[in-house]
Amino acid sequence: MKKHNFSAGPCILPQEVFKEASQAVLNYNDSGLSIIEISHRSKDFVDIMEEARSLALELLGLEGKGYKALFLQGGASTQFLMAAYNLMESKAGYVNTGSWSAKAIKEAKLFGEVVEVASSKDANYNYIPKGYEVPDDLDYLHLTSNNTIFGTQIKELPTTNIPLVCDMSSDIFSRQLDFSKFDLIYAGAQKNMGPSGTTLVVIKEDILGKVTRQIPSMLDYEVHISKASMFNTPPVFAVYTSMLTLRWLKKLGGIAAIEELNEKKAKLIYSEIDLNPLFKGFAAKEDRSHMNATFTLANGDLKETFDAMWKEAGINGVNGHRSVGGYRASMYNAMTIESVAALVDVMGDLERKA
Ligand SMILES: *Cc1c(COP(=O)(O)O)cnc(C)c1O
Repeated sequence: MKKHNFSAGPCILPQEVFKEASQAVLNYNDSGLSIIEISHRSKDFVDIMEEARSLALELLGLEGKGYKALFLQGGASTQFLMAAYNLMESKAGYVNTGSWSAKAIKEAKLFGEVVEVASSKDANYNYIPKGYEVPDDLDYLHLTSNNTIFGTQIKELPTTNIPLVCDMSSDIFSRQLDFSKFDLIYAGAQKNMGPSGTTLVVIKEDILGKVTRQIPSMLDYEVHISKASMFNTPPVFAVYTSMLTLRWLKKLGGIAAIEELNEKKAKLIYSEIDLNPLFKGFAAKEDRSHMNATFTLANGDLKETFDAMWKEAGINGVNGHRSVGGYRASMYNAMTIESVAALVDVMGDLERKA
């Protein structure tokens, strides 16, 4: 039986995407060839790459607005350094909202001065800093829109005129935002888009070409743009499967439709966390993530019982990250409300039993 998979990443994808992708591994489009044995220069794959790139821009509402979409390798972790390599001349600002932001800061320091504009490290990142001043002499400001480990999410963007760079790995395509406010968006595929192995980069072209340093070809956004995201062999299976997920999302009604569903799922789990006296939410209420709900047991003695109960109910992947402890329910786009209801039922059962 298919499990209710709350894994934080790699994670659930739509069941129909799993089916179509596995069929393509055996025989792509009745060609007698597997998707992973054809040339990436073949028309079949070039078409897939182009469809993936244009679907990404279309879903984000960025078509015809001077943006390019790339499917690169090296994960979001490579973007931590690539963003700074390509965009930082002397000084950049970072908002430190968790372990991923901290890693981005560490890499950026190799390229210039990093100003930590705001941080929630003082409270183990359980909230999003607000009302901070953004200096206007920065090359860019870097944000992490959703903090996968701590379960917080930026709801309101800071007001500033300097270029915005955002790590959207764990909430891309999950909610409506004015994406044209960003100059660079990047996201590892493995949370809301596809298998691990590719990273979506969406970049406003006119922000490039402003730094004086030399950039190695593989790390240069302009090189990847000039080669239509095919500078070297792309991760064909990851790009293909991401394209299938983007098609699925478009058919569903795009980001507006999925946002509505994501709100329902979040409401369901957070109301259980708030009403059930056996559980406590980790993140500040106003900053709660609609993708990753973090919570703990009020009484740790119940851990063994609760863990046995959710496993029995066919639930997978709700153990919290070691830096928070407790539990984390990741509810990415492909997660059904029925799966969230299954977890909420187990939480209710625990209350009735205890
Ligand atoms: C998972 C994650 C990353 C790391 O992504 P990789 O593709 O493994 O490098 C970075 N940032 C955020 C917000 C994440 O959730």
